[in-house]
Amino acid sequence: MDVSLVLTHDCNLGCSYCYTGAKFRKRMPRETADKALDLAFAHGPEAVQLSYFGGEPTLELPLLLEVATEAKRRAEAQGTKLVQTVTTNGTLLDADAIQRLYALDFYVALSIDGVRAAHEVNRPQMGGGSSFDAVERCLRLLVAAGQPFETISVVTPKSAPFLGRASSTCSRPGCPACRSTPATRPRGTTRRSRPGNRASSARQTRWPAGCAPGGR
Ligand code: SF4
Repeated sequence: MDVSLVLTHDCNLGCSYCYTGAKFRKRMPRETADKALDLAFAHGPEAVQLSYFGGEPTLELPLLLEVATEAKRRAEAQGTKLVQTVTTNGTLLDADAIQRLYALDFYVALSIDGVRAAHEVNRPQMGGGSSFDAVERCLRLLVAAGQPFETISVVTPKSAPFLGRASSTCSRPGCPACRSTPATRPRGTTRRSRPGNRASSARQTRWPAGCAPGGR
């Protein structure tokens, strides 16, 4: 059973290719998350994948940690294999938060568009200003933690010229997986539904070796 939990529609960044459209502060009630867990763990499944999205899911970090803790409890009680992932812009994660995520066996997908110049053309703070220093700090913390994670870079015409240098940021020693995905909008799709945005990238996440339910 695969379940995606959109914890909030809000975000602290204002990316040019954002799939959420207008941001608004609507938080997932804990009761909704619990119902999702009821569904995921019904009938004693062999494996469960829980993916935490937004908006920016770490804006609701206490809720995320509460739900993930409950999911881990249920998985251990039932003998269910559990994979939990969070796709994040990383700007709100400090060392303590990362430690707490890894204590719950999370797999982290960090959105960073390569080098500073590429990142800054598309991923400003909401209201303006650079988000690069904050996300790069998160990248360093993830590397230092030594746990599985990946980086996701969205490539647009504006950031494409920096693609070659992007590897110097994302492919540093200790970063096990880097993916780039084009921001394209095929005919007949809306800005909200286009592939190549962060949501669709996250859904294509390849589980790290040994983590994939069902041995994928
Ligand atoms: S793409 Fe992600 S990080 Fe960027 S504004 Fe949208 S929700 Fe926030």
